[in-house]
Amino acid sequence: MKSDPPVIIVGGGPAGMVAGLLFARAGVPVTILEKHADFLRDFRGDTVHPSTLELFDEIGLLEELLKEPHAAIDTMTLHLLGQQYTIATMKHLPVAARFVAMMPQWDLLDFIAGQGRRYPTFDLRMSTEATGLIYDAGGRVSGVTLASGEVLPAWLVIAADGRRSVLRDAAELPLEDLGAPMDVLWFRVPVPAGMDMPEVALGTIDKGGMVVAIPRGDYWQCAQIIGKGGFAPIEAEGIEAFRQRMIEIAPGLAAGTDAIKSFGDVKLLSVALDRLTRWSRPGLLAIGDAAHAMSPVGGVGINLAVQDAVAAANILAARLAGGADPDPWLARVQARRWKPTVRMQALQRFAHRRIIEPMLRGEITRVPLAVHLLDRIPLLRRIPGRILGLGFGRQHVQSPLAKDFS
Ligand SMILES: Cc1cc2nc3c(=O)[nH]c(=O)nc-3n(C[C@H](O)[C@H](O)[C@H](O)COP(=O)(O)OP(=O)(O)OC[C@H]3O[C@@H](n4cnc5c(N)ncnc54)[C@H](O)[C@@H]3O)c2cc1C
Repeated sequence: MKSDPPVIIVGGGPAGMVAGLLFARAGVPVTILEKHADFLRDFRGDTVHPSTLELFDEIGLLEELLKEPHAAIDTMTLHLLGQQYTIATMKHLPVAARFVAMMPQWDLLDFIAGQGRRYPTFDLRMSTEATGLIYDAGGRVSGVTLASGEVLPAWLVIAADGRRSVLRDAAELPLEDLGAPMDVLWFRVPVPAGMDMPEVALGTIDKGGMVVAIPRGDYWQCAQIIGKGGFAPIEAEGIEAFRQRMIEIAPGLAAGTDAIKSFGDVKLLSVALDRLTRWSRPGLLAIGDAAHAMSPVGGVGINLAVQDAVAAANILAARLAGGADPDPWLARVQARRWKPTVRMQALQRFAHRRIIEPMLRGEITRVPLAVHLLDRIPLLRRIPGRILGLGFGRQHVQSPLAKDFS
């Protein structure tokens, strides 16, 4: 086996960490570069979907993962114009865990890092930011440059550096921007001490606004959907108007909104929906949001990123472990993941057009027939449950466990 230089994965998000774990598990030397010092950032969602949980089951880690604090949600409800509707169920899915585990992403990533460190070829470097690429004389990507000025040679570079990927730009991969009509305001609303957590739906659309409230024990992680570029007028109206708006849309949050003291407590997250039309060039492969930035709609981005990582490991890990040249196989990863990505992005665009844009214009004044039907016919709810829970083109782990570790 070739052992030097390693596969370099840039980005310790779900895509990069799962890819790193699977490559190391197959005995491939892998170095993951993460620019932050820890995984403790709020902005990437909490949803671990049934198909992702199934992958952990396939590598014998599901039971261990589910020891991490999480809430299990097997039924999705929507609070729309003052009424609660049940719109999706996952109870029927053919997998070991028939629910979405609501788990802060830093817990998931810490867990994967801990599992990765069991393998000697797994090297995770925090506080290490990649800034660009280096090429060999034939134009093949042969490593990365770091913010520290260092240069790291690589056998293969995997760009998993998220929706503002520096590496996909550096590699000059062609990008198709699909546009997104909204941004997200991301903030915490605590449950006052001594109070039971009031009932607040995961998603609420009312009074011309939309709020998502993810329960995290003693606070909700909230997302308010606003029009693209619409933060400046909200800021101009002041924090009190913002708090009142929140209470108007989701009254259950009222008791905790005083804790939002200023706009310093509210982060603006820019939403993007795009995809590379080519995910690789010799020596480099892009996966996850770096290959296709996902909108938060449906909370499916983490799942897609993880599925890309599994596809990459399925196609490349055994070959890399055998010392083969990865370049002839890179395009296969895109070929395997292209249709599932395009389909999911088409659904997100449909939701942007049919739900988000009318909501932002204040035009949702009655409950759509489809919501009534899903609420009344339990069998119908299985369809959105399956799409959200398993996605399209589900991957199973086929990358090997190196003989030394079995
Ligand atoms: C507001 C919002 C809410 C969302 N909520 C959800 C949700 O609830 N569920 C869901 O499934 N999806 C959600 N998504 C989508 C989801 O966040 C992404 O699809 C998913 O995180 C993609 O994973 P990734 O590993 O490809 O990239 P990321 O999670 O973005 O990870 C990329 C990593 O690379 C690191 N990095 C970046 N540049 C460099 C560099 N130059 N050098 C080194 N490291 C670098 C970053 O620090 C980061 O850790 C949401 C998106 C938004 C915008």
